[in-house]
Amino acid sequence: MQMQREQGVSFPPHLISLERIQELADIEETVDGSIRIGALTDLESCRTHPLVRRKCPILSEAIGAIASPAVRNRGTIGGNVLYGVGDAIPVLLALDARLSWFCENGIRSEWINDYLSKQEAPAKAAILTDITVASPVKGRCFFRKIGRRETFVPSVVTVAMYREMTDRHTIKEIRMVAGGGVNTPRRLKMCERELIGKELTDDLIVSLSAGIKEEAALIGDVFASADYRRTVAANLLLAALQSDR
Ligand SMILES: Cc1cc2nc3c(=O)[nH]c(=O)nc-3n(C[C@H](O)[C@H](O)[C@H](O)COP(=O)(O)OP(=O)(O)OC[C@H]3O[C@@H](n4cnc5c(N)ncnc54)[C@H](O)[C@@H]3O)c2cc1C
Repeated sequence: MQMQREQGVSFPPHLISLERIQELADIEETVDGSIRIGALTDLESCRTHPLVRRKCPILSEAIGAIASPAVRNRGTIGGNVLYGVGDAIPVLLALDARLSWFCENGIRSEWINDYLSKQEAPAKAAILTDITVASPVKGRCFFRKIGRRETFVPSVVTVAMYREMTDRHTIKEIRMVAGGGVNTPRRLKMCERELIGKELTDDLIVSLSAGIKEEAALIGDVFASADYRRTVAANLLLAALQSDR
């Protein structure tokens, strides 16, 4: 909210702190082996938690790219998702995470991709209770944040990818995500459809570049143009695909 206030977003006259709801600040393994992360877990606890490190190291890596230890000790994973442009979002989208909300008439749950497409809680005044990531993570994951310097920097481009292969060359399942700057990260579903069931040839990889740039539709700002962002996102995702072969 501090970032949004500095960017000129009007600040509400009253704030209600959720900080004391301890039950929403823990991380546990569910009966089916998934990882349930309480929405109020601070980013640093999430990054260093043994379950996250062991079962979902890519999330730990992505959170490590957020700001500085001081900010990570204060900011929560739920706040990062609801902020709309948080750096934890691309990996959570790539891992097809689920969000659970406490609403007036009970708990409601939805895919993070569905929430981000509308950016609206399922009910007025709903509280995000937790984020669940399926585990074990079967495929390979990739995450990269590009900023204007090494650390403590807003993202210019952030990408993530999850892919599972049927054999050494053919893609079984893939989720590709691009975001950065003021762009809410989004799944590149048309590009994903282009790849599923296909063998990763040089021609296919090269032909994807234009599609990634178009579907990512990243917009520019004073720090980086739209064209630069789209090109970087496409190059990073294609390089990650190439490294799979
Ligand atoms: C100096 C600085 C640098 C930063 N750098 C980065 C960075 O590099 N990368 C990055 O991703 N972020 C960055 N941030 C943004 C921010 O710190 C993080 O996104 C953080 O995770 C926000 O968490 P929070 O708990 O403070 O959320 P808040 O700011 O308190 O909340 C964000 C929004 O979500 C709502 N909300 C929060 N929790 C819930 C809930 N459980 N249920 C319902 N609504 C909720 C709030 O009402 C608010 O509208 C930075 C912030 C600062 C101040």
